[in-house]
Amino acid sequence: MRRLPIYFLIDISESMVGEPIQQVEEGLATIIQALKSDPHALETVWVSIIVFAGQAKTLVPLQEIVSFYPPKFPIGSGTSLSKGLGHLMYELRSNIVKTTYEQKGDWKPIVFLFTDGVPTDDTSAAIAEWKQNWARTANMVAISFGDETDMRLLGELSNDVMHFKNTSPQSYKAFFKWVTDSIKTSSISVENNSTGFELAKTDDETISKIDLSKPGDYDRGGYVDDNFVVFAAQCQNTKRPYLMKYGKVSQPSNFGGMNFETRAYRLMGAYPVDNSYYELADKSYENNVSSDELIGAPTCPCCGNQYGLAVCSCRKIHCIGDEEVSTCPWCGSQGKYTSGGGNGGFNIGRAQG
Ligand SMILES: [Zn+2]
Ligand SMILES: [Zn+2]
Repeated sequence: MRRLPIYFLIDISESMVGEPIQQVEEGLATIIQALKSDPHALETVWVSIIVFAGQAKTLVPLQEIVSFYPPKFPIGSGTSLSKGLGHLMYELRSNIVKTTYEQKGDWKPIVFLFTDGVPTDDTSAAIAEWKQNWARTANMVAISFGDETDMRLLGELSNDVMHFKNTSPQSYKAFFKWVTDSIKTSSISVENNSTGFELAKTDDETISKIDLSKPGDYDRGGYVDDNFVVFAAQCQNTKRPYLMKYGKVSQPSNFGGMNFETRAYRLMGAYPVDNSYYELADKSYENNVSSDELIGAPTCPCCGNQYGLAVCSCRKIHCIGDEEVSTCPWCGSQGKYTSGGGNGGFNIGRAQG
């Protein structure tokens, strides 16, 4: 039986922390569950999951659906699409069975790329390699999670650029059903000896195809995704890493009788992450946001300490409670902290994406 390899290439950058990554985790579990009860898919579909942040890694090697166990997704810093694509092409080279005189090889692999932001590095070399070596031998579907993705860049990779409006738990359900249906129809298509690639119909409510031939606000510049700011911190008590995610808001302000719109970031949540965060992070990068721009500060999601956003003189962030003297879990230095934040104007090291 010829295999239909399905690759999921998933952005696990910091802006995915919280609800999006949870939904992706659950969504992929429901996809596999649905495919397990589909005779066509069960016969032909093989699945692999590759994740990328500052680094890329294979989360699930290419395998039959029967033996597939849904993984837990890590989070890393940065959005290195070039490393993600590089890793994907490496996996394709190593795993895809080519058709020869002796054997019929795999069907054209289908890649579902999920990303919610702007790459934090230069992708031109990886995209050129994709176009040259893989664009004809694989089918790629590039899916933008939300409005902040560089659609034009995704259009370089694929004719199938989809926009998923990830607004509610229901929309995630509809989206993952669409992915499942697309895989099912593709697996039926291979049985009929046709193309082996057929996307399911979209409802245009939750997921729609982007027409890049029309002018639109698709171009995003720069290598920093500034719609979200995510700060990496470490818990003083448990030594676990956690992330604080802020979303951009426009804040009206009044200065000397004049009205301004100032850039600000509002707290969306604080989330403990695994130590694999360090493994998948891009360490070479540092950016800065002033605490003046931050609205709200969380308690520590690891130990419940009252203040999760204390900045040490080493410039790293950790939690503090009501102890007299705090110890920075990053550098070990001890100090007393004065409460408050947002009015001191201190700068905080910012993660990438
Ligand atoms: Zn803590
Ligand atoms: Zn320190």
